[in-house]
Amino acid sequence: MKIKFLGASGTVTGSCYVLTGDSGQSILIDLGMFQGTPAIEKYNYEPFEYDCKLLSGAILTHAHLDHCGRLPILLTYGFSGRIYMTPATRDLTELSLLDSAKIARSDNKEFLYDEELAARTIQKFETVQYRTPFQIGDFTVTFRDDGHILGSASLEIVDRTAVGNYRKIVFSGDLGNTPEDLLQETEFIDTADAVVIESTYGDRLHPKSDPSDALRSEINAVETSEGTLLIPTFSLDRTQELLHLIKHLKKSGEVKNETPVYMDSPMAQKATLYYMKYSKLFNPHIQDDFKFGSPFDFPELVIIDNWKESQAIHNSKGAKVIIAGSGMMTGGRILSHAAHYLPMPSTRLFIVGYQGDETLGRNLLEGDRNIIIDDNEISVKATVNFTESMSSHADQKQLLTWLGHIKDVKKVFVTHGEDNVRSIFAEKIYKELGIEDVTLPILNQEVVL
Ligand SMILES: [Zn+2]
Repeated sequence: MKIKFLGASGTVTGSCYVLTGDSGQSILIDLGMFQGTPAIEKYNYEPFEYDCKLLSGAILTHAHLDHCGRLPILLTYGFSGRIYMTPATRDLTELSLLDSAKIARSDNKEFLYDEELAARTIQKFETVQYRTPFQIGDFTVTFRDDGHILGSASLEIVDRTAVGNYRKIVFSGDLGNTPEDLLQETEFIDTADAVVIESTYGDRLHPKSDPSDALRSEINAVETSEGTLLIPTFSLDRTQELLHLIKHLKKSGEVKNETPVYMDSPMAQKATLYYMKYSKLFNPHIQDDFKFGSPFDFPELVIIDNWKESQAIHNSKGAKVIIAGSGMMTGGRILSHAAHYLPMPSTRLFIVGYQGDETLGRNLLEGDRNIIIDDNEISVKATVNFTESMSSHADQKQLLTWLGHIKDVKKVFVTHGEDNVRSIFAEKIYKELGIEDVTLPILNQEVVL
């Protein structure tokens, strides 16, 4: 068995691996976009270091762009196989790819693919349910629910032609911050010869505070100051989790019924409809909520459709909540709200997810109070707050617990983390689980097992 690391090896983003079995057949696992600084994003445009015509097929772990965002380039490189994923991942990935093609075109910058190529890529999608083994060439693959976002999966892959010591390899995908409000708990895996594990938060523990406490105090604060609470958010999962928490806070009277909540993200709105479609994938207690209508809807929720409606929010008086993308404030509708509201002392900016290096969200978190949005200098007077309790990624302890459940592991590859984080996590794996062979692969490295 051989594995080539074509992304997320030294960076958090750009997930991509090619696994080659002992018979010589190969499959691709994820083809994510490199996201973050220009130095990282330039990797998206470098030639792909594998001959895609040789691939028997591809597998996608989940719909986040850092895992699926480069899939269309497969077609330009002559890939002729199918791309396998769970049904929910198919729907959400279709949304993500078409949205990213549209944004790229409207940005007028260099772009990887257009909507037509994204649509042709979607034609290659095949769906398989969790826990149902299927075959791609000489490989048998099983999706396990990893509890990260709707439809996301860890992969168990067996090379049926294996002659050496390595027959079964597990790819963690992104592991969820389990147990969490909406999704089912992360599924454990019994055995593997080798494991490729993500390490986004491999160096730290999430505070065990209840995310709804932090959210309630943020909303109560703007209710008192008659200000605006801005929540930059990711369209998949985080938005739905926020809406669900707010619904419960309103129902229990912990926040005022009359405080409007604007959801200003067409992509999140579409994703929420898919979250409704796959209600069976949720925690049993949320499934009860579905009996009483949508768990993501309440009377004061205002769905913003177009740009004109988005701008009209600025004329409304009184306390309000605005949920808008993008999650790291690198684009999207959040920027015009940030430009308008951040100079006001009554505004609160509440950051609920991972912020990549050098993004506007990270800069604000690190205390930058003079920012630039669309060439305009903005002096920030708002209060900026952050919670990690809503993270959709496992922390160090959760990662170790998941890995510790897998028996007979001979080798571990740590990917999908910043380099200093990977080193800290690798050390922990050795100390706590006694696994000696822990590797931090570098970009385009190939390792023979
Ligand atoms: Zn993810």
